[in-house]
Amino acid sequence: MSVKPSLLEYTPEALKGLLAELGQKAFRATQILEWMWKHRVADFEQMTNLPPALRAQLAERFTLRPLQVVEVSESSIGTTRKFLSRMQDGHLVESVIIPAAEGKGGAQSDRITLCVSSQVGCAFGCRFCASGLLGFTRNLTAGEILGQILAAEEVSGNRVNNLVFMGMGEPLANIDNLLTALSIILAPHGLNIGARHITISTSGNVPGLRRLAEFGKPLRLAVSLHGASDEVRSQVMPVNRKWPLAQLLPALHEWNKTGKHMITLEYILIQDVNAGMDEARKLARVARDLNAKVNLIPYNTVEGLPWVRPSEAHCKAFCRALMAEKIPVTMRYEKGHDINAACGQLRLRKVQTEAADS
Ligand code: SF4
Repeated sequence: MSVKPSLLEYTPEALKGLLAELGQKAFRATQILEWMWKHRVADFEQMTNLPPALRAQLAERFTLRPLQVVEVSESSIGTTRKFLSRMQDGHLVESVIIPAAEGKGGAQSDRITLCVSSQVGCAFGCRFCASGLLGFTRNLTAGEILGQILAAEEVSGNRVNNLVFMGMGEPLANIDNLLTALSIILAPHGLNIGARHITISTSGNVPGLRRLAEFGKPLRLAVSLHGASDEVRSQVMPVNRKWPLAQLLPALHEWNKTGKHMITLEYILIQDVNAGMDEARKLARVARDLNAKVNLIPYNTVEGLPWVRPSEAHCKAFCRALMAEKIPVTMRYEKGHDINAACGQLRLRKVQTEAADS
């Protein structure tokens, strides 16, 4: 199968360069951007104000839909929908549409959140995560990152206006493509989604964090901490051996100087691993130093992994211990638990089924 680059990832400057190469005037770039992002056309033939020869040249070389949705899972809780897409080289990527919460006064909010993947598989091997079980295959291109948003809009029938980079992969390990995608997501001529509606989640990739800080946009940052001491964190997240807390925490302090929003520290509660009251006290110290909030997530059982979710009473006691230290804390039971919402699980199943069938 031929793999065509995606025109979605072309910035205005890159488009102008391409058009000059094709002997076309620069104003065509504005027309193409409008077709791609204002009208969301999926086919070059729909770009009716472009000369037919240019449409044919573009269609020959590029695609506007670098991924095709192959499976949609519905949750019985609300309307969370997880979908799996196949990319041109056959690899699978998953994304989750998260339902709008109720707005103020109980009115229906129009917020549509998409949980986006940034890589096929992941090299970081966090011990609670199904993506790590399959290892790393490749980075997504900027076009494939953007293509998930367009696919989600086609699946849901709604415009996406909130993004969380919490799907498969470590976004900051794919920083070049992430920054290209973000520049198009943020741009008025692109998706025009405000920085405060975009959350980047990281396992603690220190060089990527510094590049993201240099990018200089007031994005939200969620850090998978899952352990407030190196000893505990390294058990859950092997990345901690490469960038231990002594490197991660200063990088987060640097981020705080540029960001406008409190960092969120994600903390999955795993019985007999990181859920002791001693760890709660250490976590409170880290959160206070960073002026961060904490999001507790009772462990979501993953087939093939040994860990266990603590009892509800224990999770609540851990939460209360942080509250007693005046740390802003929320506890989130994974939405869509019944559709394998833990990162990577749907793809893991599909890859396993396909392997079994072949
Ligand atoms: S949690 Fe994120 S960084 Fe860790 S293995 Fe899974 S995808 Fe990779």
